[in-house]
Amino acid sequence: MHFTQPRLPYAIDALQPVISANTINYHYGKHEKAYIDTLNSLTEGTEYADMALEKIIRTSEGKLFNNASQAWNHIFYFFQFSPDGAKEPYGELREKLESTFGSVDEFKRRFEEAGATLFGSGWVWLSVDDKGDLHITQGTNAYNPMCNGLRPIMVFDVWEHAYYLDYQNRRADYLHKLWDIVDWDAISMRYE
Ligand code: MN
Repeated sequence: MHFTQPRLPYAIDALQPVISANTINYHYGKHEKAYIDTLNSLTEGTEYADMALEKIIRTSEGKLFNNASQAWNHIFYFFQFSPDGAKEPYGELREKLESTFGSVDEFKRRFEEAGATLFGSGWVWLSVDDKGDLHITQGTNAYNPMCNGLRPIMVFDVWEHAYYLDYQNRRADYLHKLWDIVDWDAISMRYE
C-alpha cells in the first residue's frame, strides 16, 4: 500500500474536552482510514500508485479526487492541533493576520462565520496566495484550495462527522472551541 495513515502526534484523549476520544476514534480511526484505504484500492496498479498525493489532488476528479483530497485534508486538519502548542498566533503571521483582517479576534470571527455559513458538508480554509496574502475560503465536500493555486495553512472540518458526537447540531460552538487546541507553532511553520 503506497498511502499510509500517519499516527497522530498526541494521545486520542489529548484534545478533550474540545474533541473527545470518541470523535477521534471515529473521525480519524474510521472516516480518515476509509479515505486512505479507498485511495489505495483506486490507485493500485495505475499511474497514480506512485504519484505524490498533492499531484493526484490537482489532476484527478470524481471518486479518486474525493478520496485523495479527503485523505490529505484530514491529515492537515488533525496535525494542526496540539494540547500544548502555542495558543495564539505570533511573529510574522500575527502581523499578517492583523494587517489583513484588522485583528486576530476579527480573523477568528470571520473564520468561524465562514465555517458556520457553509451549507452542507465541507471545509473552511486559511491559505496564502503567490503574493503572500492571506485568504479565508469555504469549500464543499472534498474541496482543497490548492486546486485554485492557493497554499493552505489551516483548515476546520465542518462535515457533521467532525462534531456531531460532541456538539450535535451546534456547529458554531464546535468552531469556536477549536481555537483552544489550534497549535500556532504548526500553523506558523506552514506559513513560512
Ligand atoms: Mn472529516
